[in-house]
Amino acid sequence: MIQFHHVFMTYQHEFKALRDIDLNIERGEFVMITGPSGAGKSTLIRLISREILPTRGQIIIFEQNIAKLKPRQLPLYRRRIGVVFQDFRLLYDRTASENVALTLRILGHGGRTMTREVNQALGRVGLQKKKNQKPWHLSGGEMQRVVLARAIVHDPPLLLADEPTGNLDFATGWEMMQLLKQVTDTGTTVICTTHNLNFIQKMRKRTLFLDKGILRGERNRVHGA
Ligand code: ADP
Repeated sequence: MIQFHHVFMTYQHEFKALRDIDLNIERGEFVMITGPSGAGKSTLIRLISREILPTRGQIIIFEQNIAKLKPRQLPLYRRRIGVVFQDFRLLYDRTASENVALTLRILGHGGRTMTREVNQALGRVGLQKKKNQKPWHLSGGEMQRVVLARAIVHDPPLLLADEPTGNLDFATGWEMMQLLKQVTDTGTTVICTTHNLNFIQKMRKRTLFLDKGILRGERNRVHGA
C-alpha cells in the first residue's frame, strides 16, 4: 500500500531530515515508527499525507506516485487518510459529536446517515455517553478519543497517528494504543509514531527505528508483509 524508494527530505539550509528511506507497508499492517526527537518521524508522516514533497526519491501510495497528484486530485487522496494529532486540533466550541461530524460534512454527508456514522465512530472509541460534551469537559484521553473518532468516521484505508500519546499519561496512552490496534481489525493500515519505548516493547508490532533521518532497522516484521 505504501512504498518509499530512496526517499530524501532536505529542508531549507540543507538540513537532511530523511536520508535514503526504502520502505514497504502492506494493507492492514500496524507499523510503529520510533526514534529520538528530531529523528524524522513527523517528516515521514507529513510525506505520506502529502503535506510536503520529498527532495528526491519516489513515494507510491494507493498505487500512485503521490508527487504526480494534481491539485484537483489532492482532496480525494486525503479523504482516504485519517490523521490523529498529538495536539488534538479540536473545535472547542463544538460538542464531541459535532467535531466528529465535521469530517463527514466536508465530505458532503448529511442527515440520518451522518448521525448514525458519528454515533458508530464514537461507539468504537467508547465515548458515546459523552457525545454531547464539549472538549473542555473531557479529559485528555477522552479528547484524543474524539480525535480518533473524527479520523476514522469515514472509514479511511489509512490512519496516520503522529505521537498520539504525547500529551497523555502512560495508562491513558496505553488505552489509546489499544484503540489504534483495533482500527486495523477493519482492514485499515495504521502508522503510529512514538518516542516512548515502553509502548514499543508492549505493543510488539512492526517497528521502524529512525535516527538522524536514517532508517537504522526494524523489528517484528511479519514474514511476507
Ligand atoms: P521528529 O518527528 O522525529 O521529532 P521531525 O521530522 O519533526 O522529527 O524533524 C526532523 C528534523 O527536521 C529536525 O531536525 C527538525 O528540526 C527538522 N525540521 C522539521 N520540520 C522542519 C521545517 N519545516 N523546516 C526546517 N527544518 C525542519
